[in-house]
Amino acid sequence: MIIDSHTHIGFEDKYQNQGPKELIRLMDRAGIDKSVIFPFGPVFSKNQSYHSENIKISRYSNNPRFITFGRVNQLASDSLEEVDRINDLKFKGIKIHTDAVPLNPYTDLVKKLNEYHLPILIHTGNNKNADVENLKHLKYEGNIIIGHGGKDNVSSAIELVNSRNNFYIETSLLSLSRTKKLIREVKDKSKILFGSDAPYDLPELEVKKIMHACDYDRGLVRDILGKNLEKIL
Ligand SMILES: [Zn+2]
Repeated sequence: MIIDSHTHIGFEDKYQNQGPKELIRLMDRAGIDKSVIFPFGPVFSKNQSYHSENIKISRYSNNPRFITFGRVNQLASDSLEEVDRINDLKFKGIKIHTDAVPLNPYTDLVKKLNEYHLPILIHTGNNKNADVENLKHLKYEGNIIIGHGGKDNVSSAIELVNSRNNFYIETSLLSLSRTKKLIREVKDKSKILFGSDAPYDLPELEVKKIMHACDYDRGLVRDILGKNLEKIL
């Protein structure tokens, strides 16, 4: 079973959009059975609520090809209510972006997230807000999936995964050499999860990347491509 842990459905702008049929076509080309789906970034403003986008995503909850995650915006005035709604909508997890602001200073939101303990996929990147180091101070007790493997700060991300029980790491958009490093240095390999970030990268390329990075070790490939994620959903 191959499961992609990071894809988007919906519309952000002319260049950033993807429908379910387009995604399924990409999944079929890559041999992917299921994809975790959640909305794109805000369309109207930085503090946009994800309420309507989450409702749209929830329509796919019974589709056997998709695993639905809701999205919460720390800057939205309804962020706490949205976490309750995400739980009501029976989403399997939550996606949080951090380019505009990190998550840890929003203590009320973190407290609310701790009521449900859903897995949270958190974007990490190279700007200060999205720095994986911020997650050191995050008081979340559920499972945390480091999105994009920490990007330039992949070493800090690996350290965090090795020192905290509830930290996992997802491989989308990482170079082949960084992916190899991650597979070499993460001690518990069951914490490594495959993700493509489709439509930003092609799922079939990301699958190939994992196979190369694992040196075609079939057991390891199988675990990273799907089994590891299945265990925490
Ligand atoms: Zn993404």
